[in-house]
Amino acid sequence: MSNIEQTLSIIKPDAVERNLQDQIKNEFKNKGFEIIKEKKIHISKDEAEKFYKVHESKPFYNDLCAYLSSGPIVVMNLQRENAVLENRKLMGATNPEDAEEGTIRKKYGISIDKNSVHGSDSAENAKVELNFFFKD
Ligand code: UDP
Ligand code: MG
Repeated sequence: MSNIEQTLSIIKPDAVERNLQDQIKNEFKNKGFEIIKEKKIHISKDEAEKFYKVHESKPFYNDLCAYLSSGPIVVMNLQRENAVLENRKLMGATNPEDAEEGTIRKKYGISIDKNSVHGSDSAENAKVELNFFFKD
């Protein structure tokens, strides 16, 4: 049975700053993802705090929100079969040191905080996160 899904991907400031957005977009396209919406934006710290609200109680929350709002990001609506899980697989582990060869975080990530990409972790969160950035 087919399970075409959409998920939110973000190319984070560390990757945009190093001009990696085209290379990272190609990683998605090469794995069968269609980029059905995308925009380059620079969000405020307040917006980052709303987006990462789920991490509010974590010790890294403040730095994480400061970081996501520190420079331009590229937000994308990605679509393919099992997009949520397939995107998480392609991204690799949160810490690039632990990420498998061939994953985006292994190839491009600098550190656990500057790990180049965000991806929704469930179909339910994908809907919430897509709505956050692409309301219409
Ligand atoms: N993060 C961090 N320190 C940590 C754990 C996470 O700076 O110890 C950052 C990292 O950028 C990560 C984000 O917080 O991508 C969200 O954390 P999560 O556990 O949701 O990881 P992800 O879903 O991005 O793999
Ligand atoms: Mg997460």
